[in-house]
This record gives sequence, structure tokens and C-alpha cells, in this order.
Amino acid sequence: MTGVSRDPKWRRRDDAANASANASADAPVAPMTFARSTAEALAAIRGDLGDCTRCKLHTQGRTQIVFGVGSPTAELMFVGEAPGADEDIQGIPFVGRAGQLLTKMIEAMGLKRDDVYIANVLKCRPPGNRNPEPDEIGQCEPFLFRQLESIQPKVVIALGAFAARTLLQTDAPISRLRGRVHHFRGAKLIPTFHPSFLLRSPGYKREAWEDLKLALFELGRELPPASPSVPSE
Ligand code: URA
Repeated sequence: MTGVSRDPKWRRRDDAANASANASADAPVAPMTFARSTAEALAAIRGDLGDCTRCKLHTQGRTQIVFGVGSPTAELMFVGEAPGADEDIQGIPFVGRAGQLLTKMIEAMGLKRDDVYIANVLKCRPPGNRNPEPDEIGQCEPFLFRQLESIQPKVVIALGAFAARTLLQTDAPISRLRGRVHHFRGAKLIPTFHPSFLLRSPGYKREAWEDLKLALFELGRELPPASPSVPSE
């Protein structure tokens, strides 16, 4: 695996310490994995993806790969399912109607999109927005795991069943997974409903807001004033 250390001592918050150690002329040259920033590690993962042809989605009408967006030093990362039509055109996750609701959810938490990192289980659009298939998830999930390992967020919010099940390696329904904190590779993982589901079933927004509040608690952040629930569209 290029550019990403598996050493648990390697945390991005150590980058400053590495930089000052490297500044000394007498210091031994650090291995690449220690010298790299998270942004460079993410760029290396994107480079390894290349113009991916690992699964059939590259023959099924994808315009481009939708890798991920946001801060490489984010403490909070959102993981969705797969790009839709808008994301496929723009190359950015969550920019369509569901994305607009996700942006409002992030803002209701007192954060901005630029503060967090957003990626999907699949990096290519399934035709007609059908569900991801197991072989596609199998080929694509290592890249998501590498993104998570590089960013090392404190909290991961899994949006919907596919993200939650892929990360937790379970078949359990989202209704059983959400509402609590799962421990995931050193991070706290909080499953919640997918914004597309919330657009179809706004009655579940109250529960989604409980999940977002749980994430704020795990991040050690105050509840912003006047954020009564997941906002309407
Ligand atoms: N739905 C997702 O799961 N991901 C996107 O990027 C857009 C919609």
C-alpha cells in the first residue's frame, strides 16, 4: 500500500512533529510514509485508483470517478453509497438533492462542508442509480478503507444501509444499526439514515438528528443554538 502507514502511532496530528524532526540537517531521512501529509496520502490513493476498470461499472455509463471531497484533516467523515447522476457529472460526492440536504445537516451541526470529508462506498455511478452489487463493493471498498486510514477521523457517519453494512461488515438493517456508537478501526462510527431516504420519508428526520447530536457529543462539540432538527429541504 503506497504512502499510507499502518503503524498506529502514525497519526496526521503527528505531522507537525515529523516536520520539525525533518527540519534538522543532521536528522536521518524519514521514510516516505512518515514524511507524507494526509493530502499526499489521499492523492496517492487517487493515483492508485487511476482510470479504474476493476469492476463492470466502467462499462456501464459512468462519466468519471467520484473520489471524495473535503478536509484531509477532518475529524468527521461522512460515507455514502455511490454517486448519482449529478455527482457523476460534477465529480463531487453529494451535490444533487440528497447532497443539498446533507449540506444542511452538516450546517445544522454547526459545521461547514469544508470542515468534513465526504466519500462513498462506490466511486462510480451504478446505472439508473441501482443498488451497489457485491462484486462492485468488493473491488471498491479497499479504497474507502485507505481513505479512512489516511484521514483518521474521530467520528464516521455512515449514511444509509450500504455504507453502514460495508463498514461494519454486517447484514443488519440500518434501523438496528443506527442510534448508537460502533467502534470502528479507532474511530466512532455512527450509522444514520441516507439523505435520499430522508427526502422520501421526512418523518425520520427526528431520529437522524438524534444521530447527528450523538456525533457532536463524540466529537466533544457543543450543540449549536437553534438547531431543532434535520432541516427541511
Ligand atoms: N448518494 C450517495 O450515496 N452518494 C452521493 O454522492 C450522492 C447521492
